[in-house]
Amino acid sequence: MSEELEMKAEAVEEDVKVEEEAAPERVKKYKKPVSRKKVCAFCTDKNNVIDYKDGAKLRRYITENGKILPRRQTGTCARHQRELAVAIKRARVMAILPFKGE
Ligand SMILES: [Zn+2]
Repeated sequence: MSEELEMKAEAVEEDVKVEEEAAPERVKKYKKPVSRKKVCAFCTDKNNVIDYKDGAKLRRYITENGKILPRRQTGTCARHQRELAVAIKRARVMAILPFKGE
């Protein structure tokens, strides 16, 4: 019984050692960006409606080249990202947004 416990304790110690060895180098090489939890702007504000005619609002969700920004960058939820993509595409057809950078 006590032997088993000792074995477990050793295993835990080993794990800790491995982490300590690997960690400093990793920290130097790669500075982890501060992760701020983004929430969907359209879910938080019910009055914030996606409209293809609202070019100013849609412009925040496209790149300079006119590409639609991915969800991981804007924090938009799946449902609203779909609506947003449709709205941006409609806005392009209506010449409110560019197909390609200016
Ligand atoms: Zn949403």
